[in-house]
Amino acid sequence: MATVETEPGIANGIHLCGSKHVNWYLIEESGALTVVDTGFPTHWQQFREQIDVLDYSLSDIDACLLTHAHPDHIGFAERLRTEGDVPLWLHESGVQRAKAGGNPPLGGFIKNLWRPAVFRYFIEVFRSDGTSIRPPTTVETFDAGTELDVPGHPQVIHVPGHTEDEVVLYLPDRRVLFCGDALATVDFETWQGDTPQLMPPWLNVDHGQAQDSVRHLDSIGEVLLLPGHGDPWTGDLSEAIRTE
Ligand SMILES: [Zn+2]
Repeated sequence: MATVETEPGIANGIHLCGSKHVNWYLIEESGALTVVDTGFPTHWQQFREQIDVLDYSLSDIDACLLTHAHPDHIGFAERLRTEGDVPLWLHESGVQRAKAGGNPPLGGFIKNLWRPAVFRYFIEVFRSDGTSIRPPTTVETFDAGTELDVPGHPQVIHVPGHTEDEVVLYLPDRRVLFCGDALATVDFETWQGDTPQLMPPWLNVDHGQAQDSVRHLDSIGEVLLLPGHGDPWTGDLSEAIRTE
């Protein structure tokens, strides 16, 4: 786990967790935690260790927010709900896919397995039980434009394109944007690069819509961007978003 503090004071209380390929996060506020995404099922062990290190228990987790219902983001969500009595939140357009276990774009993955980086990602999927997700059975849904009354008080911005249900979560007071897979900070096909960019077209359900959606994030300006894939990135979104 890394505590995300690329600029002192800006991101206090945010912790980056996960693996080489997949990120998820913990937000601390007033002695309670929000979990943002849940990686793969095997990340549960890491989750338990991280909250121990931070001196929290399961009962201190107020909410789990899912940026979208893909298997690499809902991995241990149902376990968190059942063992920790933690409510799971996602956009209503993702409920069906979540309950079906995530339904990733398998055809696109298979066509791109010749790429070494995609092949390595797929190996991690298998090793991390990403092909046997326990689907969430009970979820809460959030509306775009709302501010959630959970630790961090994130604003929900609906940014469909990667999936129908993709949202980003913005913490204005900390200038932090959890962007799920609306933007990555690495090229998913090569696992190189370190700037904000869209996922490849074969991973987006509607690539044009994904481009339009991220353009609407321009006005956020200077921000610490925390993606589902790639390293944290700090900068001005309006200058950095690559949508070609
Ligand atoms: Zn993802």
